[in-house]
Formats: sequence, structure tokens, C-alpha cells
Amino acid sequence: MTTKHRTYCRLCEAGCGIVVDVADDGTVEKVRPDNDHPVTKGFACNKGMLCGEIHHDPSRLNEPQRRTASGFVASTWNDATTDIAERINAIIAEHGPNAIAGYIGNPAAFNATAGPALALFIAMFGSSSLFTTGSQDCSNKFAIAEMLWGSSQVHLIADVDNTDHMLLFGTNPRVSKGSFLAMPDPIARLGAIEQRGGTVRFIDPRRIEPKVGEVIQLKPDTDVYLLAAMLHEIDARRGFDQAGTARITDLDSVREFLSGFSAATVAPVVGLDAELIVQLALEFADAPTAAVHMSTGVNMG
Ligand code: SF4
Repeated sequence: MTTKHRTYCRLCEAGCGIVVDVADDGTVEKVRPDNDHPVTKGFACNKGMLCGEIHHDPSRLNEPQRRTASGFVASTWNDATTDIAERINAIIAEHGPNAIAGYIGNPAAFNATAGPALALFIAMFGSSSLFTTGSQDCSNKFAIAEMLWGSSQVHLIADVDNTDHMLLFGTNPRVSKGSFLAMPDPIARLGAIEQRGGTVRFIDPRRIEPKVGEVIQLKPDTDVYLLAAMLHEIDARRGFDQAGTARITDLDSVREFLSGFSAATVAPVVGLDAELIVQLALEFADAPTAAVHMSTGVNMG
């Protein structure tokens, strides 16, 4: 007999609603998007649809592995926890509690109990060394939000449904929902920008195929140089928005910094023609409304 479970995908923060058919013996038979989910409305990406295969993958670790001189061998949970406890005690005795660190990655971070359990586990040693995917990904968003708005929890989300120009760095909506954008059916919503006469640009070192907009491939790890050049060209050719710059206390320092990032200077760094950099800058500045979203790459800084 097969039982249907309405649940959610834990592979990323979008938490898409899914329906999973599970046989009596625990075999995942089928995974599909949950059309009745109030937020994700029947969308789930390819990764989420494959979570049944991940679950049953023969290379998945289903028991602890002990490293030996001849490689890893399976251990029991009792042996593993006893061994780990002895080692943790020895490390704390020699180096103090902060020498014990925890790391919560996807999908544990999106498991309602696993994340808090590890945080509690680390806190019980008196250690403050707790890291997450956020320690290496998206920490820029939280830091800048605190600097700009006074709270790390305030995030500007691009108004995809109303913008005329959408510039996306390091994101492929066909394989995820755009990180913080968390859009159900992202291809359709980005496609709607073009249908109402707007433009969609992806900036990515990879040759992604988002099925919408245009992909501009730059050299890896050079996104911020492109952004600096775009700001330089916008200010030089159109001038910054006065209402926006009125809130900057030291605009001269910003301009002095940007002066070294003309399109011509940055072109060989990012691997794009200077004319294209100017075009990207001006189409952003000249659009009636424009929005930018950044994900992998810029978010790792
Ligand atoms: S976007 Fe994909 S990986 Fe992320 S929660 Fe949804 S189905 Fe899972």
C-alpha cells in the first residue's frame, strides 16, 4: 500500500511544498510538487524532485564511518558516539570549549529539529563556535542590511512582478528559486517582465540556460568589479539619483573610490567589452523601474 505525505523539500530555504508517495516498506515511490501549497503553489525544482533518489542513493551514508589505516569502515552508533564523546572531552580539556565547532548545512538547516539540536549540543559545551551555510553564503546580505537599515533581518526583495528591468547575478531560476527571491514558478514570473516590454539580464560565469532573458558571461569572481564599473558609468553619464545620494554622508569618497573602475579599466578584468559594460549600466539607469538580485558568487564575499 502507498501512503501520500504532504511535506516540504529541505534542500534549500525555499522549502517548496511537495507530495511524497511512500510504500509500506519505506520506499519513496514518487515525489511531485504540491499544487495546494499556499506559497509555492505547485512549483518545485529538479533538485527537489530528485530527493527520493537522494534518499535511496546507494552511496548515501546510513551509518557512521570510522577512518582506519585501510580506509573507512562502517561502525555502530554506540561505538561512534562513545568514541566521539571521548575525543571531544580530550579536546576540551586541552584547548577549551571553543575548540569544538558545529556546522549546519543544507538540508539540516531546514529540518525543524536538527538545527536547534546541534545549536544546543554546541552550547552545552560552552562553545560559541557554531557555523552554518550562512557563515559562507549570504552573510553579506545580513551585514549590509545591518549597516544600511539597522537590522540584519531587513532584506530588500526585488519587486519582480512590477519591475521593467531585472538584473540577476549568480542565479539560475531553473535549478533553484533564486535564493532570497523564493519565487514560485520563477521562469514564468521573469518571463512576464519581457512580455510587458521589460528586460531580464543574467550575469554569470557559467553558461546557464534560464529560458528567459539574456545571459552575460563574465570571468568568475569578478561580479563586484562589474558593479563598480556600472556605478562609475551611471554617475559619469547620467548622474546618481539625488534623493538616493542625499542619504550618503561621504559621497565624495564613494566617487573617488569608483574613479578607478571605468568600463575601459574593468573590461579586461571581467572579460566583457567596455561597450557592453556601459550598456548594462545605462539600461539599468534608464529603465523606468529596475531591480537587482544577487546570489551565488557575490553572496560568498
Ligand atoms: S527550490 Fe528546489 S531545492 Fe529548493 S526547496 Fe524548492 S524544490 Fe527544494
